Amino acid sequence: MAVKGKTSARKPAAVKKPKKIRVLFAAGEAVPFAKTGGLADVVGTLPGELARLGAEPALILPEYRGVRDRFELKSTGIKVSVPVQVMEDTVIKVGEVFETDHHGVRVFFIRNDEYFDREFLYGTAKGDYEDNAPRFVFYSRGVVEFIRAGGFEPEVVHCHDWQASLIPLYVKTLYKDDPRVGRLKTLLTIHNLAYQGVFWKYDLKQIGLDDSYFTPELLEFYGNINFLKGGIMFADVINTVSKTYAREIQTPQFGAKLEGVLLTRTNDLYGIVNGLDYKVWSPEIDKYIPAKYSVKDLSGKKTCKDQLKKELGLDPGNQPLIGNIGRLALQKGMDLVAESMAEMVEMGYQVVTLGTGEEKYEKLMKETAAKFPGKIAIKIAFNDQLAHKIEAGADLFLMPSRYEPCGLNQLISLKYGTVPVVTETGGLHETVEDFIADPKNGAGFKLKEASKLELLTVLKRALDVYYQPKQWDRLVKNGMKKDFSWKASAREYLGLYKSLLK
Ligand code: ADP
Repeated sequence: MAVKGKTSARKPAAVKKPKKIRVLFAAGEAVPFAKTGGLADVVGTLPGELARLGAEPALILPEYRGVRDRFELKSTGIKVSVPVQVMEDTVIKVGEVFETDHHGVRVFFIRNDEYFDREFLYGTAKGDYEDNAPRFVFYSRGVVEFIRAGGFEPEVVHCHDWQASLIPLYVKTLYKDDPRVGRLKTLLTIHNLAYQGVFWKYDLKQIGLDDSYFTPELLEFYGNINFLKGGIMFADVINTVSKTYAREIQTPQFGAKLEGVLLTRTNDLYGIVNGLDYKVWSPEIDKYIPAKYSVKDLSGKKTCKDQLKKELGLDPGNQPLIGNIGRLALQKGMDLVAESMAEMVEMGYQVVTLGTGEEKYEKLMKETAAKFPGKIAIKIAFNDQLAHKIEAGADLFLMPSRYEPCGLNQLISLKYGTVPVVTETGGLHETVEDFIADPKNGAGFKLKEASKLELLTVLKRALDVYYQPKQWDRLVKNGMKKDFSWKASAREYLGLYKSLLK
């Protein structure tokens, strides 16, 4: 209806489309293309989540042999040139940039066969590749050259771990006057401070950076060079994968000798907890488990437990089953697991461990298992399918880590109604509330420290709750109701990018 004095034929105001933030992810690995650890899960999942929130993300990786063999790539036509010092000569190494689409996200790959046409990402079982310094200088500088060439025009470069840590340094030094590169904002995410990319100081020259970079403010680190340190010094903003770990790494206990450097950036250091991909990890839809179940109907979980025990050769029955999956490493408290197995069985538990890693833990676990037939199963393998079955079939999940930047397995366990037993550290501390301290919200049991005594004390407490079915049911459901999907974390990342662009 026309209103007097007003024109009814007024043109509707043009709807202003919100500007899409363009973010380029740079990392050494991302699922499904290349993976050695949790880093790949984050880098492979987060861009898709950001796209759903209205950003325009893209991803750039080295083109490893496994990528070319398994994915169809097309050339972008862009070649990047990176100067590298070989003996006394400067040699130009060239990389061709290829591209594919992964669920609507553009993924670029820098191809240079001398550096990346290898079976593994960073090294073999014998140790790291000796030329990792030039390999990842080539990658990092290649990313910058790719942006310079206009292959993708990001506003933010989101760099991950040491493999991409030189990018913020290049943006602020060698390329600061470049019109496309100098204006870029950079975010560095630290997934695990223990991996820093530390190299012999003479690599500096070999990789095309002169001695002026060998100072405590730049790459120098106790007589060596440290790529991660370069990223920490030069990124506009830094984050790690939980708020607790962000605090912890600024202390000598967790700082891996970089706590001083991190303290200088304390105002720019954030923590954002990782999410879990519920399309892969949900007992309602999990294709690997023998019976599906949900918080509304848990009956399938019992089938999962019975079948798992059968598959592992464990005695049938209602005894509580402890699951444990992960790298057999000191970080993960695998020494404590190995040393406590006999006592766990004596308490009335059964135990299954799935992992690969240090032989000494494997040996001790297998020796103990041999003494308790039908009670302990040790599987030395990387077996994704079995990991799903353990998460579904176990009653408790053990993760007594000494430090844990975020941790995925406790998030998986919560979703599967498998009660996590975790150390009060890093992401474990942040994502698991203790049931004894807070029965209303608590979804797990917490160790104050990673020690055998504390582990056994807490497991004794857990056993008491296990044999009170009403209590146990509440505990299990508390966990299953938690939401650690990527959505909230992706929003936090988007907030960080926006604050950078203000
Ligand atoms: P990490 O520090 O090793 O990255 P996380 O808990 O963050 O530890 O992530 C480890 C991921 O790898 C989880 O999804 C876990 O289930 C999986 N995983 C670890 N070891 C194995 C194994 N031996 N077999 C199958 N999956 C494994």
